[in-house]
Amino acid sequence: MATLMGWVQSRRDHGGLIFIDLRDREGITQVVFNPTLSPDIHKQAHDLRSEDVIAVGGKVEARPEGTVNIHLSTGQVELIADELEILNPSKTPPFPIEDNVLVSENLRLKYRYLDLRRPRMLANLRRRHQILRVVRNFLDGYGFIEVETPQLTKSTPEGARDYLVPSRVNPGQFYALPQSPQLFKQILMVAGIERYYQVARCFRDEDLRSDRQPEFTQIDFELSFVDRDDILSLMETMLTEVFQMVKGLRLSTPFPRLSYQEAMERYGSDKPDLRFGLEIHDVSSLAADSSFQVFQETLNRKGVVKAMVLDGKATLSRKELDELTEAAKALGAKGLAWVKVSPEGFESPIVKFLGEPLLRKLSVALSAKAGDLLLFVADQLKVAREVMGGLRVQLAERFQLIPADQFRFVWVTDFPLLEYDETEQRYVAMHHPFTSPLDEDLPLLETDPKRVRAKAYDLVLNGSEIGGGSIRIHRREIQSGMFKLLGIDPVSAQEKFGFLLEAFEYGAPPHGGIAFGLDRLAMILSGAESIRDVIAFPKTQKAICLLSDAPSHVTEQQLKELHIKTDIVE
Ligand code: ASP
Repeated sequence: MATLMGWVQSRRDHGGLIFIDLRDREGITQVVFNPTLSPDIHKQAHDLRSEDVIAVGGKVEARPEGTVNIHLSTGQVELIADELEILNPSKTPPFPIEDNVLVSENLRLKYRYLDLRRPRMLANLRRRHQILRVVRNFLDGYGFIEVETPQLTKSTPEGARDYLVPSRVNPGQFYALPQSPQLFKQILMVAGIERYYQVARCFRDEDLRSDRQPEFTQIDFELSFVDRDDILSLMETMLTEVFQMVKGLRLSTPFPRLSYQEAMERYGSDKPDLRFGLEIHDVSSLAADSSFQVFQETLNRKGVVKAMVLDGKATLSRKELDELTEAAKALGAKGLAWVKVSPEGFESPIVKFLGEPLLRKLSVALSAKAGDLLLFVADQLKVAREVMGGLRVQLAERFQLIPADQFRFVWVTDFPLLEYDETEQRYVAMHHPFTSPLDEDLPLLETDPKRVRAKAYDLVLNGSEIGGGSIRIHRREIQSGMFKLLGIDPVSAQEKFGFLLEAFEYGAPPHGGIAFGLDRLAMILSGAESIRDVIAFPKTQKAICLLSDAPSHVTEQQLKELHIKTDIVE
Protein backbone atom coordinates (compact mmCIF):
# COMPACT_ATOMS: atom_id res chain seq x y z
CA MET A 1 0.00 0.00 0.00
CA ALA A 2 1.16 3.51 -0.73
CA THR A 3 -0.44 6.90 -0.30
CA LEU A 4 0.49 9.78 -2.56
CA MET A 5 -0.48 13.39 -2.00
CA GLY A 6 -0.21 16.12 -4.53
CA TRP A 7 -1.87 18.03 -7.35
CA VAL A 8 -3.87 16.73 -10.28
CA GLN A 9 -1.81 17.50 -13.36
CA SER A 10 -4.28 15.97 -15.78
CA ARG A 11 -7.11 13.46 -16.08
CA ARG A 12 -7.72 11.11 -18.96
CA ASP A 13 -10.89 9.05 -19.26
CA HIS A 14 -10.14 5.93 -21.31
CA GLY A 15 -13.34 4.02 -21.67
CA GLY A 16 -13.65 2.35 -18.32
CA LEU A 17 -10.33 3.41 -16.79
CA ILE A 18 -9.52 6.91 -15.52
CA PHE A 19 -5.88 7.95 -15.45
CA ILE A 20 -4.64 10.78 -13.28
CA ASP A 21 -1.18 12.29 -13.55
CA LEU A 22 -0.46 13.21 -9.97
CA ARG A 23 2.21 15.87 -9.45
CA ASP A 24 4.28 16.70 -6.41
CA ARG A 25 7.64 18.41 -6.17
CA GLU A 26 9.46 15.24 -7.20
CA GLY A 27 7.50 14.84 -10.44
CA ILE A 28 4.58 12.91 -11.90
CA THR A 29 3.11 9.52 -11.00
CA GLN A 30 0.33 7.85 -12.92
CA VAL A 31 -2.72 6.82 -10.88
CA VAL A 32 -5.31 4.42 -12.28
CA PHE A 33 -8.96 4.28 -11.19
CA ASN A 34 -10.59 1.03 -12.21
CA PRO A 35 -14.43 0.87 -12.14
CA THR A 36 -14.45 -2.89 -11.54
CA LEU A 37 -11.96 -2.83 -8.65
CA SER A 38 -13.16 0.36 -6.85
CA PRO A 39 -16.47 1.60 -8.30
CA ASP A 40 -17.06 4.33 -5.68
CA ILE A 41 -13.81 6.19 -5.97
CA HIS A 42 -13.82 5.68 -9.73
CA LYS A 43 -17.00 7.75 -9.73
CA GLN A 44 -15.40 10.47 -7.61
CA ALA A 45 -12.37 10.51 -9.90
CA HIS A 46 -14.65 11.65 -12.72
CA ASP A 47 -14.90 15.05 -11.07
CA LEU A 48 -11.19 15.63 -10.51
CA ARG A 49 -9.90 18.82 -12.13
CA SER A 50 -6.41 20.18 -12.78
CA GLU A 51 -4.73 21.45 -9.61
CA ASP A 52 -7.14 19.79 -7.16
CA VAL A 53 -5.12 18.62 -4.17
CA ILE A 54 -5.75 14.95 -3.42
CA ALA A 55 -4.55 11.99 -1.38
CA VAL A 56 -4.73 8.62 -3.15
CA GLY A 57 -3.99 5.27 -1.64
CA GLY A 58 -3.45 2.01 -3.48
CA LYS A 59 -1.02 -0.53 -4.74
CA VAL A 60 2.05 0.30 -6.81
CA GLU A 61 2.23 -2.07 -9.75
CA ALA A 62 4.41 -2.49 -12.78
CA ARG A 63 2.69 -1.00 -15.81
CA PRO A 64 1.34 -3.52 -18.31
CA GLU A 65 3.70 -4.33 -21.14
CA GLY A 66 3.72 -1.70 -23.87
CA THR A 67 2.52 1.11 -21.59
CA VAL A 68 5.87 1.95 -19.96
CA ASN A 69 6.74 5.68 -20.31
CA ILE A 70 10.50 6.06 -20.65
CA HIS A 71 10.24 9.86 -20.34
CA LEU A 72 9.03 9.67 -16.73
CA SER A 73 11.22 8.59 -13.83
CA THR A 74 8.15 6.76 -12.46
CA GLY A 75 7.22 5.55 -15.93
CA GLN A 76 7.70 1.85 -15.10
CA VAL A 77 4.94 1.82 -12.49
CA GLU A 78 1.47 3.11 -11.67
CA LEU A 79 -0.65 3.40 -8.56
CA ILE A 80 -3.85 1.33 -8.68
CA ALA A 81 -6.11 3.50 -6.52
CA ASP A 82 -8.52 2.15 -3.95
CA GLU A 83 -8.75 5.25 -1.73
CA LEU A 84 -9.26 8.87 -2.70
CA GLU A 85 -9.62 12.00 -0.63
CA ILE A 86 -10.01 15.41 -2.17
CA LEU A 87 -8.02 17.59 0.21
CA ASN A 88 -8.88 20.82 -1.57
CA PRO A 89 -10.44 21.50 -4.94
CA SER A 90 -8.90 24.15 -7.18
CA LYS A 91 -10.37 26.81 -9.41
CA THR A 92 -9.29 26.53 -13.03
CA PRO A 93 -5.79 28.04 -13.03
CA PRO A 94 -5.20 31.04 -15.34
CA PHE A 95 -2.50 29.09 -17.14
CA PRO A 96 -1.55 25.41 -17.32
CA ILE A 97 1.14 24.26 -14.90
CA GLU A 98 3.60 23.17 -17.56
CA ASP A 99 7.04 24.32 -18.62
CA ASN A 100 6.42 25.10 -22.25
CA VAL A 101 3.40 27.36 -22.20
CA LEU A 102 3.36 30.91 -23.41
CA VAL A 103 2.21 33.07 -20.51
CA SER A 104 2.82 36.77 -19.97
CA GLU A 105 5.29 37.48 -17.21
CA ASN A 106 2.82 39.76 -15.43
CA LEU A 107 0.33 36.92 -15.11
CA ARG A 108 3.09 34.62 -13.88
CA LEU A 109 4.12 37.15 -11.24
CA LYS A 110 0.56 37.76 -10.08
CA TYR A 111 -0.03 34.03 -9.64
CA ARG A 112 3.54 33.33 -8.61
CA TYR A 113 2.51 30.33 -6.48
CA LEU A 114 1.17 28.67 -9.61
CA ASP A 115 4.18 29.73 -11.66
CA LEU A 116 6.52 28.22 -9.06
CA ARG A 117 4.67 24.90 -9.34
CA ARG A 118 6.09 24.54 -12.83
CA PRO A 119 8.97 22.06 -12.86
CA ARG A 120 11.48 24.47 -14.39
CA MET A 121 10.85 27.14 -11.77
CA LEU A 122 11.02 24.64 -8.95
CA ALA A 123 14.32 23.37 -10.39
CA ASN A 124 15.62 26.96 -10.40
CA LEU A 125 14.81 27.43 -6.73
CA ARG A 126 16.43 24.11 -5.92
CA ARG A 127 19.54 25.02 -7.85
CA ARG A 128 19.79 28.30 -6.00
CA HIS A 129 19.49 26.42 -2.72
CA GLN A 130 22.15 23.99 -3.87
CA ILE A 131 24.57 26.78 -4.77
CA LEU A 132 24.20 28.24 -1.28
CA ARG A 133 24.57 24.86 0.34
CA VAL A 134 27.83 24.18 -1.49
CA VAL A 135 29.09 27.68 -0.69
CA ARG A 136 28.22 27.38 3.00
CA ASN A 137 29.87 23.98 3.32
CA PHE A 138 32.93 25.18 1.52
CA LEU A 139 33.28 28.32 3.64
CA ASP A 140 32.73 26.42 6.83
CA GLY A 141 35.63 24.20 5.85
CA TYR A 142 37.80 27.29 5.51
CA GLY A 143 36.86 28.68 8.89
CA PHE A 144 34.51 31.43 7.73
CA ILE A 145 31.91 32.72 10.17
CA GLU A 146 28.51 33.81 8.89
CA VAL A 147 27.57 37.07 10.57
CA GLU A 148 24.39 39.03 9.95
CA THR A 149 24.62 42.79 9.68
CA PRO A 150 21.75 45.28 10.15
CA GLN A 151 19.06 45.97 7.58
CA LEU A 152 18.08 49.22 9.26
CA THR A 153 21.26 51.18 8.94
CA LYS A 154 22.95 54.28 7.69
CA SER A 155 23.39 55.03 4.05
CA THR A 156 26.29 52.99 2.59
CA PRO A 157 28.42 54.34 -0.19
CA GLU A 158 27.82 52.10 -3.20
CA GLY A 159 26.68 55.14 -5.08
CA ALA A 160 23.05 54.26 -5.81
CA ARG A 161 20.00 55.94 -4.35
CA ASP A 162 19.00 54.62 -0.92
CA TYR A 163 15.73 53.10 0.19
CA LEU A 164 14.81 55.06 3.29
CA VAL A 165 12.85 53.92 6.30
CA PRO A 166 11.43 56.56 8.65
CA SER A 167 12.11 56.14 12.34
CA ARG A 168 8.94 56.60 14.43
CA VAL A 169 10.82 56.98 17.68
CA ASN A 170 13.27 59.48 16.19
CA PRO A 171 10.95 61.86 14.35
CA GLY A 172 12.35 63.23 11.13
CA GLN A 173 15.18 60.71 11.02
CA PHE A 174 15.61 57.86 8.60
CA TYR A 175 17.40 54.59 8.34
CA ALA A 176 18.70 53.50 4.97
CA LEU A 177 18.38 49.91 3.83
CA PRO A 178 21.93 48.70 3.13
CA GLN A 179 23.21 48.87 -0.43
CA SER A 180 25.69 46.27 0.81
CA PRO A 181 27.17 45.29 4.19
CA GLN A 182 30.39 47.12 3.21
CA LEU A 183 31.06 49.20 6.32
CA PHE A 184 29.91 46.56 8.78
CA LYS A 185 32.03 43.85 7.24
CA GLN A 186 35.08 46.08 7.48
CA ILE A 187 34.23 46.82 11.10
CA LEU A 188 34.00 43.04 11.65
CA MET A 189 37.60 42.82 10.51
CA VAL A 190 38.59 45.45 13.06
CA ALA A 191 36.64 43.28 15.52
CA GLY A 192 38.99 40.40 14.77
CA ILE A 193 36.55 38.08 12.93
CA GLU A 194 39.19 37.46 10.23
CA ARG A 195 36.94 35.47 7.89
CA TYR A 196 33.40 36.72 7.45
CA TYR A 197 30.69 35.85 5.00
CA GLN A 198 27.01 36.52 4.72
CA VAL A 199 24.21 35.78 2.33
CA ALA A 200 23.18 39.39 2.36
CA ARG A 201 20.18 41.17 0.96
CA CYS A 202 21.11 44.50 -0.60
CA PHE A 203 18.83 47.35 -1.62
CA ARG A 204 19.51 49.90 -4.33
CA ASP A 205 16.92 52.31 -5.65
CA GLU A 206 18.18 52.38 -9.21
CA ASP A 207 16.49 52.60 -12.55
CA LEU A 208 15.71 49.00 -13.24
CA ARG A 209 17.09 46.98 -16.09
CA SER A 210 16.30 43.42 -17.02
CA ASP A 211 19.08 42.02 -14.83
CA ARG A 212 18.49 44.28 -11.83
CA GLN A 213 16.11 44.10 -8.91
CA PRO A 214 15.57 46.73 -6.19
CA GLU A 215 16.54 44.08 -3.67
CA PHE A 216 19.05 41.43 -4.57
CA THR A 217 21.26 38.93 -2.82
CA GLN A 218 25.01 38.97 -2.46
CA ILE A 219 27.30 36.32 -1.14
CA ASP A 220 29.51 38.75 0.72
CA PHE A 221 33.06 38.13 2.03
CA GLU A 222 35.71 39.93 3.98
CA LEU A 223 39.10 38.58 5.09
CA SER A 224 41.97 39.91 7.16
CA PHE A 225 45.72 39.49 6.61
CA VAL A 226 45.34 38.58 2.94
CA ASP A 227 46.46 40.02 -0.34
CA ARG A 228 44.58 40.16 -3.60
CA ASP A 229 45.83 36.83 -4.91
CA ASP A 230 44.73 35.00 -1.74
CA ILE A 231 41.19 36.21 -2.32
CA LEU A 232 41.12 35.49 -6.03
CA SER A 233 42.43 31.98 -5.63
CA LEU A 234 40.05 31.15 -2.76
CA MET A 235 37.13 32.35 -4.86
CA GLU A 236 38.31 30.25 -7.80
CA THR A 237 38.43 27.17 -5.59
CA MET A 238 34.95 27.91 -4.26
CA LEU A 239 33.44 28.44 -7.72
CA THR A 240 35.15 25.29 -8.98
CA GLU A 241 33.36 23.41 -6.24
CA VAL A 242 30.03 25.09 -7.03
CA PHE A 243 30.28 24.27 -10.74
CA GLN A 244 31.37 20.71 -9.98
CA MET A 245 28.51 20.07 -7.55
CA VAL A 246 25.76 22.00 -9.31
CA LYS A 247 26.66 21.48 -12.97
CA GLY A 248 29.01 18.50 -12.90
CA LEU A 249 31.53 20.69 -14.72
CA ARG A 250 35.23 20.93 -14.04
CA LEU A 251 36.46 24.50 -14.37
CA SER A 252 40.09 25.06 -15.13
CA THR A 253 41.95 27.33 -12.77
CA PRO A 254 43.50 29.81 -12.41
CA PHE A 255 40.97 31.93 -14.28
CA PRO A 256 42.55 34.23 -16.84
CA ARG A 257 43.22 37.79 -15.71
CA LEU A 258 43.10 40.98 -17.67
CA SER A 259 43.99 44.40 -16.42
CA TYR A 260 41.21 46.95 -16.87
CA GLN A 261 43.42 48.67 -19.43
CA GLU A 262 43.85 45.51 -21.48
CA ALA A 263 40.17 44.56 -21.25
CA MET A 264 39.15 47.98 -22.53
CA GLU A 265 41.78 47.90 -25.26
CA ARG A 266 41.04 44.42 -26.60
CA TYR A 267 37.33 44.08 -25.88
CA GLY A 268 36.07 47.63 -25.40
CA SER A 269 34.48 46.61 -22.11
CA ASP A 270 35.39 45.99 -18.47
CA LYS A 271 33.21 42.89 -18.60
CA PRO A 272 34.49 41.13 -21.69
CA ASP A 273 32.75 38.03 -22.97
CA LEU A 274 35.58 35.62 -23.79
CA ARG A 275 33.40 32.96 -25.35
CA PHE A 276 34.21 34.43 -28.76
CA GLY A 277 37.07 36.31 -30.42
CA LEU A 278 36.30 39.48 -32.37
CA GLU A 279 39.09 41.37 -30.68
CA ILE A 280 39.45 45.07 -31.22
CA HIS A 281 42.67 46.46 -32.70
CA ASP A 282 44.10 49.92 -32.64
CA VAL A 283 45.13 50.88 -36.16
CA SER A 284 45.63 54.60 -35.52
CA SER A 285 49.25 54.68 -36.60
CA LEU A 286 48.52 52.90 -39.91
CA ALA A 287 45.39 54.99 -40.45
CA ALA A 288 47.51 58.12 -40.12
CA ASP A 289 49.01 57.28 -43.53
CA SER A 290 45.65 57.43 -45.32
CA SER A 291 44.09 60.40 -47.03
CA PHE A 292 40.67 59.44 -45.69
CA GLN A 293 39.39 62.66 -44.21
CA VAL A 294 37.37 61.08 -41.40
CA PHE A 295 40.47 59.26 -40.13
CA GLN A 296 42.67 62.30 -40.54
CA GLU A 297 40.37 64.68 -38.72
CA THR A 298 39.80 62.26 -35.86
CA LEU A 299 43.53 61.65 -35.42
CA ASN A 300 44.23 65.38 -35.57
CA ARG A 301 41.83 65.81 -32.67
CA LYS A 302 43.78 63.18 -30.68
CA GLY A 303 41.19 60.52 -31.48
CA VAL A 304 41.84 56.91 -32.48
CA VAL A 305 40.93 54.46 -35.21
CA LYS A 306 39.81 51.03 -34.05
CA ALA A 307 39.26 47.99 -36.22
CA MET A 308 37.68 44.57 -36.00
CA VAL A 309 37.70 41.61 -38.39
CA LEU A 310 34.56 39.60 -39.09
CA ASP A 311 35.67 36.22 -40.37
CA GLY A 312 34.14 35.25 -43.71
CA LYS A 313 31.59 38.06 -43.70
CA ALA A 314 32.63 39.76 -46.95
CA THR A 315 29.39 38.26 -48.25
CA LEU A 316 27.20 40.75 -46.38
CA SER A 317 24.81 42.71 -48.58
CA ARG A 318 24.69 46.48 -48.79
CA LYS A 319 21.51 46.39 -46.71
CA GLU A 320 23.17 44.32 -43.97
CA LEU A 321 26.14 46.69 -43.94
CA ASP A 322 23.76 49.63 -43.59
CA GLU A 323 22.19 47.87 -40.60
CA LEU A 324 25.61 47.46 -39.00
CA THR A 325 26.26 51.15 -39.53
CA GLU A 326 22.95 51.99 -37.87
CA ALA A 327 23.85 49.71 -34.95
CA ALA A 328 27.20 51.51 -34.58
CA LYS A 329 25.45 54.87 -34.65
CA ALA A 330 22.98 53.75 -32.00
CA LEU A 331 26.01 52.94 -29.85
CA GLY A 332 27.32 56.48 -30.29
CA ALA A 333 29.50 56.29 -33.42
CA LYS A 334 29.39 58.94 -36.12
CA GLY A 335 29.70 56.21 -38.70
CA LEU A 336 31.17 52.83 -39.51
CA ALA A 337 33.66 52.22 -42.29
CA TRP A 338 33.86 48.77 -43.85
CA VAL A 339 36.16 47.02 -46.27
CA LYS A 340 35.56 43.64 -47.87
CA VAL A 341 38.68 41.55 -48.48
CA SER A 342 38.45 39.42 -51.64
CA PRO A 343 40.97 37.33 -53.57
CA GLU A 344 41.04 40.12 -56.17
CA GLY A 345 41.66 42.92 -53.71
CA PHE A 346 39.47 45.20 -51.62
CA GLU A 347 35.95 46.43 -52.00
CA SER A 348 34.63 49.46 -50.17
CA PRO A 349 33.49 53.01 -50.81
CA ILE A 350 36.70 54.16 -49.13
CA VAL A 351 39.21 52.04 -51.08
CA LYS A 352 40.20 55.09 -53.12
CA PHE A 353 41.01 57.08 -49.96
CA LEU A 354 42.91 54.34 -48.22
CA GLY A 355 44.71 52.92 -51.25
CA GLU A 356 45.67 49.30 -51.94
CA PRO A 357 49.13 49.40 -50.29
CA LEU A 358 47.74 50.69 -47.00
CA LEU A 359 44.84 48.23 -47.10
CA ARG A 360 47.34 45.42 -47.56
CA LYS A 361 49.29 46.62 -44.53
CA LEU A 362 46.08 46.85 -42.52
CA SER A 363 45.11 43.31 -43.56
CA VAL A 364 48.46 41.99 -42.42
CA ALA A 365 48.23 43.86 -39.11
CA LEU A 366 44.72 42.49 -38.55
CA SER A 367 45.56 38.97 -39.85
CA ALA A 368 42.65 39.29 -42.27
CA LYS A 369 42.22 36.95 -45.21
CA ALA A 370 40.15 36.84 -48.37
CA GLY A 371 36.46 36.63 -47.53
CA ASP A 372 36.74 38.69 -44.33
CA LEU A 373 35.04 41.96 -43.53
CA LEU A 374 36.99 44.76 -41.82
CA LEU A 375 35.14 47.29 -39.71
CA PHE A 376 36.56 50.65 -38.61
CA VAL A 377 35.42 53.27 -36.14
CA ALA A 378 37.21 56.60 -35.78
CA ASP A 379 36.44 58.64 -32.69
CA GLN A 380 37.70 59.78 -29.33
CA LEU A 381 39.12 56.82 -27.38
CA LYS A 382 36.19 56.44 -24.97
CA VAL A 383 33.54 56.52 -27.70
CA ALA A 384 35.51 54.28 -30.07
CA ARG A 385 35.93 51.67 -27.32
CA GLU A 386 32.30 51.79 -26.30
CA VAL A 387 31.09 51.47 -29.87
CA MET A 388 33.45 48.64 -30.76
CA GLY A 389 32.77 46.87 -27.45
CA GLY A 390 29.01 47.10 -27.99
CA LEU A 391 29.27 46.11 -31.64
CA ARG A 392 31.43 43.13 -30.73
CA VAL A 393 28.66 41.67 -28.55
CA GLN A 394 25.88 42.48 -31.01
CA LEU A 395 27.79 40.93 -33.91
CA ALA A 396 28.52 37.78 -31.93
CA GLU A 397 24.82 37.41 -31.20
CA ARG A 398 23.73 38.26 -34.70
CA PHE A 399 26.11 35.85 -36.38
CA GLN A 400 25.75 33.20 -33.68
CA LEU A 401 29.40 33.17 -32.72
CA ILE A 402 28.66 32.36 -29.06
CA PRO A 403 29.09 28.66 -28.32
CA ALA A 404 26.40 27.15 -26.10
CA ASP A 405 27.18 25.70 -22.67
CA GLN A 406 30.50 27.44 -22.19
CA PHE A 407 31.50 29.17 -18.99
CA ARG A 408 34.32 31.63 -19.53
CA PHE A 409 35.53 33.35 -16.41
CA VAL A 410 37.94 36.25 -16.36
CA TRP A 411 39.21 38.47 -13.55
CA VAL A 412 39.48 42.11 -14.46
CA THR A 413 42.02 43.82 -12.20
CA ASP A 414 43.76 47.15 -11.62
CA PHE A 415 40.72 49.33 -12.20
CA PRO A 416 41.27 53.07 -12.07
CA LEU A 417 40.72 54.24 -8.50
CA LEU A 418 38.74 57.29 -9.59
CA GLU A 419 36.48 58.49 -12.33
CA TYR A 420 35.75 62.10 -13.07
CA ASP A 421 32.06 62.90 -12.77
CA GLU A 422 31.35 65.67 -15.27
CA THR A 423 27.98 66.65 -13.79
CA GLU A 424 29.26 66.82 -10.22
CA GLN A 425 32.61 68.24 -11.35
CA ARG A 426 34.57 66.03 -9.00
CA TYR A 427 36.24 62.66 -8.74
CA VAL A 428 34.13 59.72 -7.62
CA ALA A 429 35.42 56.32 -6.54
CA MET A 430 35.09 53.76 -9.32
CA HIS A 431 34.55 50.90 -6.87
CA HIS A 432 33.91 52.58 -3.53
CA PRO A 433 35.84 55.04 -1.34
CA PHE A 434 37.33 52.28 0.85
CA THR A 435 39.32 50.69 -1.95
CA SER A 436 43.08 50.88 -1.60
CA PRO A 437 45.25 52.39 -4.33
CA LEU A 438 48.07 50.22 -5.74
CA ASP A 439 51.14 50.83 -3.59
CA GLU A 440 53.25 51.89 -6.56
CA ASP A 441 50.63 54.48 -7.57
CA LEU A 442 50.36 56.14 -4.15
CA PRO A 443 52.62 59.10 -5.16
CA LEU A 444 50.26 59.84 -8.07
CA LEU A 445 47.41 60.58 -5.65
CA GLU A 446 48.83 64.08 -5.23
CA THR A 447 50.05 64.70 -8.74
CA ASP A 448 47.82 62.83 -11.18
CA PRO A 449 44.87 61.17 -9.39
CA LYS A 450 43.15 59.91 -12.53
CA ARG A 451 46.13 57.67 -13.30
CA VAL A 452 46.01 55.94 -9.90
CA ARG A 453 45.06 52.29 -10.16
CA ALA A 454 43.11 50.49 -7.43
CA LYS A 455 43.51 47.12 -5.76
CA ALA A 456 40.07 46.33 -7.13
CA TYR A 457 38.93 43.29 -9.07
CA ASP A 458 35.78 42.09 -10.79
CA LEU A 459 34.90 38.57 -11.75
CA VAL A 460 33.26 38.35 -15.14
CA LEU A 461 31.47 35.29 -16.46
CA ASN A 462 30.31 35.15 -20.08
CA GLY A 463 30.27 38.93 -20.31
CA SER A 464 28.36 39.48 -17.07
CA GLU A 465 29.90 40.93 -13.94
CA ILE A 466 29.14 38.39 -11.24
CA GLY A 467 31.37 39.68 -8.47
CA GLY A 468 33.59 42.51 -7.40
CA GLY A 469 35.72 43.58 -4.50
CA SER A 470 38.97 45.11 -3.39
CA ILE A 471 41.74 45.28 -0.87
CA ARG A 472 40.73 48.09 1.45
CA ILE A 473 42.39 51.09 2.92
CA HIS A 474 43.01 50.25 6.59
CA ARG A 475 44.84 53.37 7.77
CA ARG A 476 42.92 56.35 8.97
CA GLU A 477 45.11 58.97 7.32
CA ILE A 478 44.91 57.35 3.88
CA GLN A 479 41.14 56.95 4.25
CA SER A 480 40.79 60.62 5.24
CA GLY A 481 42.97 61.57 2.25
CA MET A 482 40.71 59.57 -0.02
CA PHE A 483 37.61 61.35 1.27
CA LYS A 484 39.33 64.67 0.65
CA LEU A 485 40.16 63.65 -2.91
CA LEU A 486 36.51 62.75 -3.45
CA GLY A 487 35.48 66.20 -2.34
CA ILE A 488 33.94 64.93 0.91
CA ASP A 489 34.79 67.57 3.48
CA PRO A 490 36.04 66.45 6.91
CA VAL A 491 32.74 67.35 8.58
CA SER A 492 30.64 65.22 6.20
CA ALA A 493 33.23 62.43 6.30
CA GLN A 494 32.96 62.44 10.07
CA GLU A 495 29.18 62.53 9.99
CA LYS A 496 28.83 59.71 7.47
CA PHE A 497 31.77 57.45 8.16
CA GLY A 498 33.12 58.68 11.50
CA PHE A 499 32.56 55.30 13.11
CA LEU A 500 34.75 53.61 10.52
CA LEU A 501 37.49 56.24 10.79
CA GLU A 502 37.45 55.91 14.54
CA ALA A 503 37.57 52.11 14.35
CA PHE A 504 40.67 52.42 12.16
CA GLU A 505 42.44 54.05 15.11
CA TYR A 506 42.09 50.95 17.26
CA GLY A 507 44.26 48.47 15.41
CA ALA A 508 42.59 47.75 12.07
CA PRO A 509 44.18 44.75 10.33
CA PRO A 510 44.90 44.86 6.59
CA HIS A 511 41.81 43.42 4.95
CA GLY A 512 39.92 42.96 1.73
CA GLY A 513 36.88 41.23 0.33
CA ILE A 514 34.51 40.59 -2.48
CA ALA A 515 30.79 40.13 -3.08
CA PHE A 516 29.09 37.89 -5.63
CA GLY A 517 25.69 38.51 -7.08
CA LEU A 518 23.83 35.33 -6.22
CA ASP A 519 20.92 36.09 -8.52
CA ARG A 520 23.12 36.42 -11.60
CA LEU A 521 25.16 33.37 -10.69
CA ALA A 522 21.99 31.31 -10.22
CA MET A 523 20.60 32.68 -13.47
CA ILE A 524 23.68 31.67 -15.45
CA LEU A 525 23.86 28.24 -13.79
CA SER A 526 20.17 27.70 -14.56
CA GLY A 527 20.45 28.85 -18.15
CA ALA A 528 17.66 31.30 -17.32
CA GLU A 529 17.05 34.43 -19.35
CA SER A 530 16.26 36.73 -16.47
CA ILE A 531 17.19 36.99 -12.79
CA ARG A 532 13.45 37.08 -12.08
CA ASP A 533 13.39 33.40 -12.98
CA VAL A 534 15.69 32.53 -10.06
CA ILE A 535 14.08 34.80 -7.45
CA ALA A 536 10.99 33.43 -5.75
CA PHE A 537 9.15 36.73 -5.50
CA PRO A 538 10.73 39.32 -7.80
CA LYS A 539 9.55 42.78 -8.68
CA THR A 540 8.65 44.20 -12.07
CA GLN A 541 10.65 46.81 -13.95
CA LYS A 542 8.52 49.37 -12.12
CA ALA A 543 9.63 47.92 -8.77
CA ILE A 544 6.19 46.47 -8.07
CA CYS A 545 5.45 43.09 -6.51
CA LEU A 546 2.45 41.95 -8.54
CA LEU A 547 1.63 39.20 -6.06
CA SER A 548 1.25 41.38 -2.99
CA ASP A 549 0.79 44.71 -4.76
CA ALA A 550 3.64 46.37 -2.89
CA PRO A 551 4.34 49.24 -2.68
CA SER A 552 0.97 50.52 -1.52
CA HIS A 553 -0.64 53.41 0.28
CA VAL A 554 -0.59 53.47 4.05
CA THR A 555 -3.10 55.02 6.43
CA GLU A 556 -3.09 58.64 7.52
CA GLN A 557 -2.54 57.36 11.02
CA GLN A 558 0.63 55.53 10.04
CA LEU A 559 1.99 58.62 8.32
CA LYS A 560 1.08 60.78 11.29
CA GLU A 561 2.96 58.51 13.67
CA LEU A 562 5.98 58.88 11.44
CA HIS A 563 5.57 62.67 11.20
CA ILE A 564 5.31 62.42 7.45
CA LYS A 565 3.21 64.70 5.27
CA THR A 566 3.01 64.07 1.55
CA ASP A 567 2.31 66.64 -1.12
CA ILE A 568 0.90 64.17 -3.61
CA VAL A 569 -2.40 65.23 -5.10
CA GLU A 570 -4.52 62.21 -5.92
N1 ASP B 1 30.37 46.04 -1.22
C1 ASP B 1 30.91 45.90 -2.54
C2 ASP B 1 29.78 45.90 -3.57
O1 ASP B 1 28.64 45.62 -3.24
C3 ASP B 1 31.69 44.65 -2.72
C4 ASP B 1 33.00 44.67 -2.00
O2 ASP B 1 33.79 45.59 -2.19
O3 ASP B 1 33.26 43.70 -1.28
O4 ASP B 1 30.03 46.17 -4.72
